[in-house]
Amino acid sequence: MLGRMEPLDTLGRPLRALRMSVTDRCNFRCTYCMPREVFGPDHPFLPREALLSFEELTRLARIFVGLGVAKIRLTGGEPLLRRDLPILVRMLAGLPGLDDLALTTNGSGLPEAAVPLRAAGLKRITVSLDTLKPDRFRALSDTTVPLAQVLTGIEAARAAGFGPLKLNCVVQRGVNDDEILELAAFAREGGHSLRFIEFMDVGTTNGWRMDSVVGAEEVRRRLHAAWPLEPTDDPADAVARTWRYRDGRGEVGLIGSVTTPFCQGCDRARLSAEGRLYTCLFAAEGLDLKGFLRSGHGDADLAALLTSRWQRRDDRYSERRHSQTPGLPKVEMSRIGG
Ligand code: SAM
Ligand code: SF4
Ligand code: SF4
Repeated sequence: MLGRMEPLDTLGRPLRALRMSVTDRCNFRCTYCMPREVFGPDHPFLPREALLSFEELTRLARIFVGLGVAKIRLTGGEPLLRRDLPILVRMLAGLPGLDDLALTTNGSGLPEAAVPLRAAGLKRITVSLDTLKPDRFRALSDTTVPLAQVLTGIEAARAAGFGPLKLNCVVQRGVNDDEILELAAFAREGGHSLRFIEFMDVGTTNGWRMDSVVGAEEVRRRLHAAWPLEPTDDPADAVARTWRYRDGRGEVGLIGSVTTPFCQGCDRARLSAEGRLYTCLFAAEGLDLKGFLRSGHGDADLAALLTSRWQRRDDRYSERRHSQTPGLPKVEMSRIGG
């Protein structure tokens, strides 16, 4: 039995949330995440034996929960491409002390997966949705999957009992910022909670430029002009600033990772599909947990390793971002899932 020792990092931040990437593969090639020139047919994706097994993921999750993690989010690549994902969900959902188990997906697999995921104990689903225009969707996501399949997936998730969904929209100037009001109207009518995310300089392959970022404040002003907003100060989410529509038609989240960084409240660790631990979305190096797991160490050794790593954490990339930082070496988003 592990003692409950909850580490703090060098800035006094606890470890509360874990993002687990279950695959580095995806059936989309979103231009801002996995551009096809880089993630083409010859790209060396991880072989199956390099992925952490469900048993290894569950063992790690149990140890993380012992260190204070209360929320786990499954991500990818595209997590629904991992075979038998509902089996992992069932294993994780049974962990005592885990309050929240969620999934972020591009939605294309939900028409089939929503019911089994719900039955396995998944609590919440976030679907990424950057446009409602089929042609633009094809260009942005660079996939043969039609937009209609994602929209059907959203409905399937609701019908399976996931209730109002979270929808994530990455806004890029000159790409989809003309759809801010349409996307907000779609979410308001469907009763979903939409979150607009600033385009970030994650990884090194997405050609990020500051000019492409549409700041959260600009999004807020545009929405407010159409439907007046008021702040909610929702303490449940350290990263999103949540606003309520004054007409009572729901809420909208604005994630200002670039213009209003929130490193002070960042209590998240990220685990790549091959078992590397990253303490920041913009980290270059991850700690090899798989090697440690597979060399026969016990749970107490693992907990000690994680504790000492967290206690050395001093990441605050977004607060330090400047003209040179986008060129620094960084892990790709598709390896650690956002
Ligand atoms: N494939 C799943 C999906 O698209 O939801 C999960 C993984 S994806 C990497 C997680 C989230 O990261 C998505 O909502 C995606 O839009 C977001 N994302 C990817 N690249 C981004 C970037 N450069 N800036 C901001 N968000 C990004
Ligand atoms: Fe795939 Fe999600 Fe990245 Fe798009 S954002 S390429 S769907 S992992
Ligand atoms: Fe957390 Fe790193 Fe993002 Fe700051 S830049 S909020 S430390 S992930």
